[in-house]
Amino acid sequence: MDSQTVVLEKPWSFEPPPASVDIEPKPPQCSFQVVESEKHRQLEPNLAWSHSHEASNDFRSDIFTKPTLPMLEAIINTTLGDNVMEEDTTTNRFQEYVADLVGHDASLLVMSGTMGNQVALRTALTTPPHSILADHRGHIVTFESGGASALCGALFKTVVPSNGHHLTLDDVKSHCTLTDTVYDCPTRIISLENTLWGTVMPLSDMRAISQWARSQTPPIHMHLDGARLWEAVATGAFTLREAGECFDSMQLCLSKGLGAPIGSVLTGTSAFIKRAKWSRHFLGGDIRAAGLISAPARVGIDNVFLGGKLGAAQDMAKRASALWVELGGKLQAPTETNQIWLDLNASGLKPNDFYPVAAQFDLKVMDLIPGRIVLHYQITEQAFARLCSFFKALLPREQTPETVENKLEN
Ligand SMILES: *Cc1c(COP(=O)(O)O)cnc(C)c1O
Repeated sequence: MDSQTVVLEKPWSFEPPPASVDIEPKPPQCSFQVVESEKHRQLEPNLAWSHSHEASNDFRSDIFTKPTLPMLEAIINTTLGDNVMEEDTTTNRFQEYVADLVGHDASLLVMSGTMGNQVALRTALTTPPHSILADHRGHIVTFESGGASALCGALFKTVVPSNGHHLTLDDVKSHCTLTDTVYDCPTRIISLENTLWGTVMPLSDMRAISQWARSQTPPIHMHLDGARLWEAVATGAFTLREAGECFDSMQLCLSKGLGAPIGSVLTGTSAFIKRAKWSRHFLGGDIRAAGLISAPARVGIDNVFLGGKLGAAQDMAKRASALWVELGGKLQAPTETNQIWLDLNASGLKPNDFYPVAAQFDLKVMDLIPGRIVLHYQITEQAFARLCSFFKALLPREQTPETVENKLEN
């Protein structure tokens, strides 16, 4: 017999573990720490995880926040259970934690905000004909590759808010389809977004719409695209739970202002989240060692949101926005959170007067969404000061828009 061959004495035998053995996943035995150890920092100066300064002048979007060393530390210390089997302790606890924060029964880790929204729509809808009512500017309408039509066969009823700011119950009532004749495509979901364009929809309007939607027969599902709900809550307008009460499902982004590397989370009732697992699965979002995503996401919630870091960036946004207006600049939307929506055209500027000049001030901005400037917790005071200098250079004080135009043409 080959000496390499291992002969099992009883290959058919299965020994159950002794009753005393704890088969629950154990927390890691040793914990790896990077923050307290300055020495370790010096040993790894080139780890991308310690490069948050790279985002310090990045005003393109809060998606450009850099994950941090404490997030890496959380990844190193995470459990590695199988999340498809729901065996990953870190992810299970994370989902319970988020559900509790917003006052819903359950939540589900998803790979992106788009996936969170699309899973929610697919879960809440059955078969066509059906329609979804949303603000015409909504991400779910304009930035998700037409997902709702592809995955759900749903029609979007897009609404322009009559107050120019946010949808109200009157807007919703006058655009919902409540009849179900052969011609109709009944409204089954009202999808709100908060913040939207950085503006906050007041709690009173969310409540009014929710109460009305739930009193319909059948009740209309209330979904919130809360990619930046954290920002709305950071203004003090309402709490996560007060928002949670108004919705049957909410999608919250972890990788924007909170700075986590990957992920979003969808919340709802236990029955809704159970169904949502099917949708996430067939969309390919059911991943194995999900602790790699949930562990750093938890750090984002705890250190950035609960750590109170969103407020400082919102404050900078308001100061820069006030300066812009003081200089005679115009805005497309009021600055209520971390986004400034400059109206370049109405301010007498062309895109070429703006984007190339920003680079001269060492500021990153992008024209994908024209005029939008986004602040986040990694923007430094120095970059903020350069943003103010940039605004002053574009719109020198005590000049009429005509002289600014002349100056820019010269
Ligand atoms: C960014 C964003 C999303 C999508 O998030 P991704 O993670 O980029 O897919 C959805 N809704 C809103 C309002 C967003 O800002």
